[in-house]
Amino acid sequence: MTTQKKLYRKRFKIVLVPLGEMDYGLVNRLATHLVSIFNTGVDILQGMKIPSESYNMIRGQYYSTVILNKLELLRSSSRERILGVLYEDLYVPSAGFVYGDADFEGKVAVLSLNRLKQQSLDIFDDEKLFLRRTIKEAVHQLGHLLGLKHCLNPKCVMHFTNSLLEADCKSEKLCDNCKRKIELRS
Ligand SMILES: [Zn+2]
Repeated sequence: MTTQKKLYRKRFKIVLVPLGEMDYGLVNRLATHLVSIFNTGVDILQGMKIPSESYNMIRGQYYSTVILNKLELLRSSSRERILGVLYEDLYVPSAGFVYGDADFEGKVAVLSLNRLKQQSLDIFDDEKLFLRRTIKEAVHQLGHLLGLKHCLNPKCVMHFTNSLLEADCKSEKLCDNCKRKIELRS
């Protein structure tokens, strides 16, 4: 391992928090991919209930900011970057829904899988496609926690996408530029 990689590994650790009913097989597969993409350790915490106060009965959705505030309480060191994962739909008051949300200062993010499981052209690849989308959205949110903004490179995972169709066109990896920015900061 190069010195740079050693440094990279020391600087931050990813902590996954399954929220509510969650498929642990999926969370494990996600963790494996995150280890190789970020070259760092990934812990999976025991599941947590979705905070009931985050539920908006009128919208039938969960307010992401309230969940982020709860997740922040779980952080035990400044090295940790926490990502909560849930099946339920998320919103912020300014948008109909969000795939995920990140708080750079609090070093916490949350990801909803609710809208990632939509129709694909090839139904036989559905599960694979769902996992790939999950990985992409998770890497994207974690990228924000590492200080990355949206990237202009359409293949980069930090590229802003507004639909699943667009998201399916980008890769689950960081482009060299974004990777370098994380390394410089770490
Ligand atoms: Zn990029």
